[in-house]
Amino acid sequence: MPPTLPNTGSNTTPSGTAPPAAGPGSAPSGAALPAAGPDSTPSGATPPTTGSTSTPSKAAPPTTGSDSAPSGARGTARPAPTHPQSPRKAPPYVLSGANVVLPTGIIKNGRVIIDGTRIAGSAPENAQLIDVRGLWAVPGFVDLHNHGGGGASFTSGTVDDVLKGIHTHRLHGTTTLVASTVTGDMDGLVHRAGLLSELAEQGDIAGIHFEGPFISPCRKGAHSEELLRDPDPADVRKLIDAARGRAAMVTLATELPGGLDSVRLLAEHGVIAAIGHTDATYEQTVRAIDAGATVATHLFNAMPPLGHREPGPIAALLEDERITVELINDGTHLHPASLQLAFRHAGADRVAFITDAMDAAGFGDGLYTLGPLAVEVVDGVARLVEGGSIAGSTLTQDRALKRAVTLDRIPVEDAVAALCANPAKLLGLYDRVGSLEPGKDADLVLLDAEFALKGVLRKGEWVVDPFRD
Ligand SMILES: [Zn+2]
Repeated sequence: MPPTLPNTGSNTTPSGTAPPAAGPGSAPSGAALPAAGPDSTPSGATPPTTGSTSTPSKAAPPTTGSDSAPSGARGTARPAPTHPQSPRKAPPYVLSGANVVLPTGIIKNGRVIIDGTRIAGSAPENAQLIDVRGLWAVPGFVDLHNHGGGGASFTSGTVDDVLKGIHTHRLHGTTTLVASTVTGDMDGLVHRAGLLSELAEQGDIAGIHFEGPFISPCRKGAHSEELLRDPDPADVRKLIDAARGRAAMVTLATELPGGLDSVRLLAEHGVIAAIGHTDATYEQTVRAIDAGATVATHLFNAMPPLGHREPGPIAALLEDERITVELINDGTHLHPASLQLAFRHAGADRVAFITDAMDAAGFGDGLYTLGPLAVEVVDGVARLVEGGSIAGSTLTQDRALKRAVTLDRIPVEDAVAALCANPAKLLGLYDRVGSLEPGKDADLVLLDAEFALKGVLRKGEWVVDPFRD
């Protein structure tokens, strides 16, 4: 049974009470957006059938006059397109009637205006009105921790492979992605940093996350033990330099020799120090946070469990407001109760849903490698061939959202914050991505009433076109 619309919070516009908004062509300049539209659609209305809205002439007009389309925007008034793109794909347009998830809450029957590559505050004269009633509109997802997908590895693939992996995740709503490496030898990682930094410069990825080699052999997970090393600040510095300003995050076991100095070094360079694959005690973890660490790499996984006399890193990471905790919500890495515990204790603004995806994400079962190690994926669960450790996930962020809302009973706005705003803020990108606000990149995901993905827009272009035949 699909969930009903959750509690919309104090800043939302309850269905039935929205004042009639100005039509998209007449919205006052600078109006807060997305504005609530006229409430002519009952909550939970059937989403538009994609086939029936594939041409502009079939676009369902609004059912009330107050949401009037700008001149020329309705029906067949626009001339036939002379370019191969459907006019639907060409901004400016107004996505109208969706349940729009904003940082302040959910606007039922709201609208989002797309102009060029940005979200706009008011609709240009020539904007088309596109009916998306019954769908959810949420920001494009931001993945802090992702090793690959579509059969491709960010650690070892060619540039084309990496681009294929990025595209695979875009098809699942991830419009901003940090590419993660796994433990390798230093020369290999330095070389990798060079390749990935070029992709970051081109805007294909948001940065590089080095997961290892500075991690604990006791909590190595799917990392190659013989390549692990202590976090010598000189080595950490090598990776920062090799990434040419594009290092976003380094996961390290901060209790190892050089750990705290490395955390300080990373913080000084604006690189996120993430505590993970760690065997630290509670006290050691507190010291690392005081030194400048701000992220818990996949909380609960690859660290000592919460004990009654030894609370370990989990208690320290959950209780400190300076820490954002990564969670892998794939149904394999975490019990739903653990996920809910983290949400309740850290609060929704300190959780980031990551995929920790490897090559098999969006691809299928089979034999793969993670760095130098062989991995077998069976029923979507990736494990090392030798030893059986979980080896990353095959998760995509649309599935993480659907699970959170439909199975874990996390409020939609909280789950969306964990997928969008929270990681965007951590990366220093919240002025561009992470929420559906005017001036930001037109990165948006449309989902049906059961949270199945229907459309993905990235910088104003449909990656998944909800209006395709
Ligand atoms: Zn990982």
